[in-house]
Amino acid sequence: MDWWQKFISLKSTEEVELKRKKLVFYMLSYLCSLIILYFANQQSGDNSAVKVTLNVLGIFFIINAVLSHFHQRFKVSVILCSIGISILVLYLAYSGGNQNTGLYWILPFPIVYFVFFGYFNGLIGNILVYFALMALLFNPGILEATYRSVEISRFLASYLVAMILCLIAEYFRFQSYVELTMLNFNKQKQANTDALTKLPNRRFIDNILLESATINPEKYFPMTVVITDIDHFKKVNDTYGHDTGDLALVHIANLLKENCRGSDIVSRIGGEEFLLIFPQTGISIGLSICEKLRQLIEQNTITRENQPITLTASFGVSQALTLFDFEQAKKQADILMYDAKKAGRNQICGG
Ligand code: GH3
Ligand code: MG
Ligand code: MG
Repeated sequence: MDWWQKFISLKSTEEVELKRKKLVFYMLSYLCSLIILYFANQQSGDNSAVKVTLNVLGIFFIINAVLSHFHQRFKVSVILCSIGISILVLYLAYSGGNQNTGLYWILPFPIVYFVFFGYFNGLIGNILVYFALMALLFNPGILEATYRSVEISRFLASYLVAMILCLIAEYFRFQSYVELTMLNFNKQKQANTDALTKLPNRRFIDNILLESATINPEKYFPMTVVITDIDHFKKVNDTYGHDTGDLALVHIANLLKENCRGSDIVSRIGGEEFLLIFPQTGISIGLSICEKLRQLIEQNTITRENQPITLTASFGVSQALTLFDFEQAKKQADILMYDAKKAGRNQICGG
């Protein structure tokens, strides 16, 4: 799993998708039920069973939609609505509706299953309805209506075409939704990543991490907060050039990242300054991790023109017991890092 998926929320695109579904559900429930009720009470024929059934279904769609405003189970309302639609579709085929026109009124419905359940489950729903319709229409004995066989075959062919067209439309709509979601994800990731080292940047700490820690403090606290700064880094730039300085930064970033746990956060918050966060880690363990990192940096030299360059770093280590302490812990870690510099560099201050 991409490390960023733990932090970058795709909620916004999911919410847009849910809103679309809700709008379709309410439009369909209120508008279609009005149309059904209008036709049920308009019809001049004497088929009162059709009239009663259509009235019942129309009222059912309205009640289902109204109730959905009062409970939080939108999925249940959607399932009930699609069950109602399936009953309506099968009843129209069975009874012939008004003056045997029932089959024509079935054709607009395949799309509803796709909108409600996505392309895969929508297809399954449609296939089930299609088979149920076939079972009805090929058994004239159980039908109340009478259809000519040419009517039945044309209807089944049109339903199939409608189903395939809706499937194609829904499939590609879903693909572009996935693409837009990925685009959104990558944009957020880019905005929160340091271009050189590919580590999370200061914006990540101030926005995303803080939000995540506010929502799930138990995942983070108590935490160890570390500021580490490369020693005499200006000298590396001055002696070997800026490109080598960049390589050294990437080298240190990788070293820190590779030697921390997946749940730890290694970020670059300044030129040659890194903020490390060890969630659910007490200060004594935090200090020992930092000692390991300090030694690794010192031991893993980088080579330029066959010449080893030894880098060292100074660490300030502090802890935050709650979210409330976090800013203070960062400040404290910064002060302690400067203490480590003053004390001779390549060492750890804190505890
Ligand atoms: P100290 O031990 O006190 O930390 O000394 P220092 O030389 O590391 O600290 P100072 O703040 O004097 O210098 C930091 C240097 O880091 C200066 C700047 O040129 C360099 N630097 C900052 N960002 C980058 C970068 O992205 N790439 C390179 N190559 N150098 C950078
Ligand atoms: Mg420095
Ligand atoms: Mg510095």
